[in-house]
Parts: sequence; structure tokens; C-alpha cells
Amino acid sequence: MATQEETFKKIVAHCKEYGFVFPSSEIYDGLGAVYDYGQNGVELKNNIKRYWWDAMTLLHENIVGIDAAIFMHPTTWKASGHVDAFNDPLIDNRDSKKRYRADVLIEDQIAKYDEKIAKELEKARKRFGESFDEELYKQTNERVREHIEKREALHARYAKAMNDNDLAELKQIILDEEIVCPISGTRNWTDVRQFNLMFQTEMGSTADGAMKIYLRPETAQGIFVNFLNVQKTGRMKVPFGIAQIGKAFRNEIVARQFIFRMREFEQMEMQFFVRPGEELKWFEHWKQFRLRWHKALGLGDEKYRFHDHEKLAHYANAATDIEFLMPFGFKEVEGIHSRTNFDLSQHAKFSGKKIEYFDPELNQSYTPYVIETSIGVDRMFLSVMCSSYEEQQLEGGDTRVVLHLPPVLAPVKACIMPLVKKDGLPEKAREIMNELKFDFKVAYDEKDSIGKRYRRQDAVGTPFCITVDHDTEKDGCVTVRYRDTMEQDRVKIEDLHDIIRKATDPKELYKKIVSE
Ligand code: ATP
Repeated sequence: MATQEETFKKIVAHCKEYGFVFPSSEIYDGLGAVYDYGQNGVELKNNIKRYWWDAMTLLHENIVGIDAAIFMHPTTWKASGHVDAFNDPLIDNRDSKKRYRADVLIEDQIAKYDEKIAKELEKARKRFGESFDEELYKQTNERVREHIEKREALHARYAKAMNDNDLAELKQIILDEEIVCPISGTRNWTDVRQFNLMFQTEMGSTADGAMKIYLRPETAQGIFVNFLNVQKTGRMKVPFGIAQIGKAFRNEIVARQFIFRMREFEQMEMQFFVRPGEELKWFEHWKQFRLRWHKALGLGDEKYRFHDHEKLAHYANAATDIEFLMPFGFKEVEGIHSRTNFDLSQHAKFSGKKIEYFDPELNQSYTPYVIETSIGVDRMFLSVMCSSYEEQQLEGGDTRVVLHLPPVLAPVKACIMPLVKKDGLPEKAREIMNELKFDFKVAYDEKDSIGKRYRRQDAVGTPFCITVDHDTEKDGCVTVRYRDTMEQDRVKIEDLHDIIRKATDPKELYKKIVSE
């Protein structure tokens, strides 16, 4: 059995080999934590974005979209607090010269305790079988109790240090827990310092007139500064939402785990404006809606969990993450935040404009409160990839690599293949493809044995392979081979459209999301 780490390496290699993700500017040896999406990657990414966009804007008559510029007036970032407070606590190891996020080092340490506890419980479960009582065991087994106590103590200390912004205490925790640098293996740490994550550049051609501007570190502010524009021109009534998909940039200190943490990435954010006092009700609503959106893809309900924030941003009154089980543990894929009226009030203060909503039902004006749902396209992409990748042992000792991508997201929905490259079969196959291509992204392949062609499509996650053979002309049928089961069916050519549509139509998922 491959370890999780080996599996993850294989997924990264697979992404490159099959045209999903390439390191940026690879011919110059790449650029740290920046990646390019290839021919299959861009299709998968677009499908993820479409699934999100439509779930937000089609399913909700009160949610509209915008596409704001990446460059924004620099005061935006003063008002939002990013200039002063968009920092990560960093620490250097003097021996390896490697830089780490102090909070991540400590969170990894907490995860180690969790692993120890889980291992002990697993062992006990095997030993006691059916009669195992986990809660009782946690309370009575000395070793497990010790791990739990240490974990809880560390957790409480860490949460307090983060809340108090106490950098010296963060360092002390690292020393007390005897956390070592994974590279040098030493505990020769510098002090913890704050590091601003925004990229800067200059706008304007003359040295005097140049203005320092930032590459946006989140798309949300483009929505807040357009609140009045959209509300007025769209005649929107609270509660309503504004959705946006776009690039964001963060000078991450520790960029690792492939596309999990990038310096240039893409976000899908929705800000939902509500009456003051109703925000926690809506927070709960959006938590559940977003979880249903994830689960409808069928990647496995057990792979999701909510993780409430240890440290609430000073303006937030509730925040949670939707975490997904990656090969390297449960990790944040989406954040859901109750941001109060902080952003709109700050922009009102810094711009001197009145940013309020007149509520005709209450007959009063107020600054709306905001619930934000914020998901990274790339992290979503990674979670889909990781849960879809499988190396399968087949009967007869054969193996295959298959991507069990949700058909809705698959880059190519069907590949049409003539059994042989002659006897008019290629022409017939192209005829079928030319019919299907108006509705679906389809491919054509006539090279190599049919078995090899199936494998190629399995590796990119194509749900259907359609083979044209010598009987096709006579009976008007083709063989459909299904990616996951490898079973084959003889079907009529005119039924193909329906078969593919049924499996790949996002409408089926949308119905599931709204019906629950
Ligand atoms: P983290 O704690 O992992 O740094 P965050 O809490 O700072 O993430 P948010 O500011 O809440 O993240 O951003 C919302 C979403 O944007 C995240 O859930 C994630 O999916 C995505 N995201 C944030 N930073 C990155 C990054 N560097 N690379 C890829 N995606 C990112």
C-alpha cells in the first residue's frame, strides 16, 4: 500500500502528465507556488466555476454577479484593514534558513496529537470489536487521556496567543513543544515576526506621479466597493447577494502542497447582505447550503467537516471553514464568515460616502450586515483530484489509473472511437462526434488498441467511451463503455445524447441541493 504522501506525489505527477496542471514558466525551472492549468485542467476548472456560479446566480433570484478589476484604489486596502493587519506570524530556522508560519507549525503539532489519539482508538477498536465504547475508553485509558489532555492544553494556549497577537508566546509554545525544523532537525529558531502578504506594484508612468497599489489579496473588496452600484442599478432588496469569481494574490510565506497554497490563485466569493440582527440565521443557512453544494458532487460525505475558527477576526461574529479530507489531512477549502457591517462601514468612513440601505419594510436606513462564502477554485480542484484518483488492480494482474471525476466536472464527457482505422468506421465516428459536440465537450481517438485508448480516457476521467464497430452501420448501435465499472452496453446512436446528458447535467445536482 502506498503511503498518503506517495499517493499525493503520484497525483501531482499525474496532473502534469495528463495536462491538468503545470509548474509556471517551467522551462525556466518554475516560479515558487505559481501554476498553470493545461488543456484538461482548464476544462475541469471551468466546470467547477460554472457549477459554483450557476448554483449561486441561477438558484437564487436575489444573487447577481460582478467582475471587478484586480487593481483597486489603494485606500481600499487601508479601509479593509489589509495594509495594517493582513499578516502571518513567521519564524526562521537559523540552521536551514527556512521560513515557516509559526501558527502552521503549532497546528501541525496539534494534528500530531490527534493522530496519536486516533491510532490508540483504532487499536482498541480492533481489540474490543463490537463492544468498544469510544467515549468510555477516552475517559479511562491512561495513555489516551494523557494525549487528550496535552492536546487540549496546547490548543487552549495556542488559541489565546493568536487572539492576543502574542508573538513571544507563539515562539515559547514552539520551544516548549520541542518542535524541530523538518529540514535541519534543530530548534534554533528566530523570534516570531509579522509579515504582510500583499504584493505591491506601482501605477503611473512618472516617478513622482506613481501610486503604490496592491494586487488584491481577496476578491471580496471589489464587491463591497460596488455595493451601492449594484444595489441601486439592480434595484436589489435586502437580503441579497453579489457573487464574483476572480484572481487573488498573496505572498504566502510557506507555499507548499502543490496548488493548495499558491501565490496567485482564484476565489469564488459571495457576499450576502442582510438586516442587522439577522446575520446568524443567514450564517447557518449559508453553512448548510454550501455543504450541500459540496456533497452533491458525490465525493464522499465523510470527507467534509466544519471547523469553527479559533481566532475570530476582530470584525467577525462567527466563522467556520468547510474542510475536506486531502491526502495530507482535513484542510480548509472554503470559509464562511459573518463579517458584521465592518467592511461597508469602513468604506463609508474612508470614502466619506454614505453606504446605507433604505429598508422600505422597516422604513429605516442601515448599513447591512454581511455573510461571506469564500472558496478557492484551486483548492476545490485539488480536492476533486485527490478524491477521484485511483490506482486499480484489475483481474488478471492488470492495473489502471482512473480518475473518478464527478461527470458534471469531467473535462471531456465522451470519447468517440472507431474500432479500426478503416472500413468507413472513422467517418461514422466523426459523424457521431459532430452531432454530440454542440452539447458536450467530446474527443475523438483512433490511435492504438481499443484497450489503450480506454486507459487514456480513464486517466483523464472521461465518463463514456463510445466505440463504432462493423455492426454500427447495420444496427445503428454503438458500444458504450463506462469509466467506473468498465461495463459495456450496446446502445442506439440516437440515445447517446440522453445518456450523456443525464449523467453530466448539473441540473440534477442543483435539484438535489435545493430539495434537501
Ligand atoms: P489559509 O488559512 O489556508 O491561509 P485563509 O483562511 O487565509 O486560508 P481565506 O482568506 O478565508 O483563506 O480565503 C478563502 C479561500 O480562498 C480559502 O478557503 C481557500 O480555498 C482560498 N485560498 C486562500 N489562500 C489561498 C492560497 N494561497 N492558495 C490557494 N487558495 C487559497
